[in-house]
Amino acid sequence: MALIPEWYFHLSVGLFGLLFGSLANVIIWRVPRGESIVSPGSHCPSCGREIRWFDNVPVLSWLVLRARCRDCGSRISVRYPVVEVISGLLWLLAALLWGMTFRTAFGIALFYLLLVLTYIDLDHLRLPNPIVATLAGVGLVGTVASQLTGRPILPLFEGAGLLASPAAYAAVGVLIGLGVSALMAGSYALIRKTAGLGMGDIKLLAVLGIFYGPYVLMVLLFGSIIGSVIGGVLMIGKKDSGEPARVPFGPFLAIASLVVAAWGPAIWAWYMGIARLG
Ligand SMILES: [Zn+2]
Repeated sequence: MALIPEWYFHLSVGLFGLLFGSLANVIIWRVPRGESIVSPGSHCPSCGREIRWFDNVPVLSWLVLRARCRDCGSRISVRYPVVEVISGLLWLLAALLWGMTFRTAFGIALFYLLLVLTYIDLDHLRLPNPIVATLAGVGLVGTVASQLTGRPILPLFEGAGLLASPAAYAAVGVLIGLGVSALMAGSYALIRKTAGLGMGDIKLLAVLGIFYGPYVLMVLLFGSIIGSVIGGVLMIGKKDSGEPARVPFGPFLAIASLVVAAWGPAIWAWYMGIARLG
């Protein structure tokens, strides 16, 4: 009983994702600096001139202006169109995964905020509380809505038995996310005498528990694996200064979150199948 064709839905969601990608760039730049997101309007960081609306079209403007400010000619980083494209793809992915449902809207918010957190963590090595708190708010609203209406909105997966209710499933996720990451951070600090997981990572994992329930453990596991592989590669060639380099963990958690949102239960079923054979 679809009122609009599916491809049209996917296309429009992807385009909205592109448009909101410009806002993501603004959030990534301003929130860690404590600046307002709404005012003033976008301006060139070099000459300060306001960016005209027709120069603010996602990706296209950057290509037309050939990566330079129209007023002062200073370079505009390729990151801007890249973030816009990723945003568009993330919105599209949510639409493909969950179709025309409420869950898609909440999944979009999850992916979008993870994108923002990823770039802020890369730039500043921290995950700002206002954004993590916003993510928590989105998760709570979705879970309460599921609990009250009986519709499957959040968490992203359904539990059985004691975890059949959305609230119970999310609560267990929060406990696991918080408990396991705090334990990891604590033991790492004891062994290496330095912080591995930061406070921001622990808070983010607790919040991801709302969205993923017990699958937050898979997010943490995959994030750690991706992190040690990429972190290891980055470390090669850097001379050892004695101090372990700070590698942001947020981006790895974000990538793992995407993987688990798309394939978490399938991976678990596959793993259980192998475990039973062995
Ligand atoms: Zn300029």
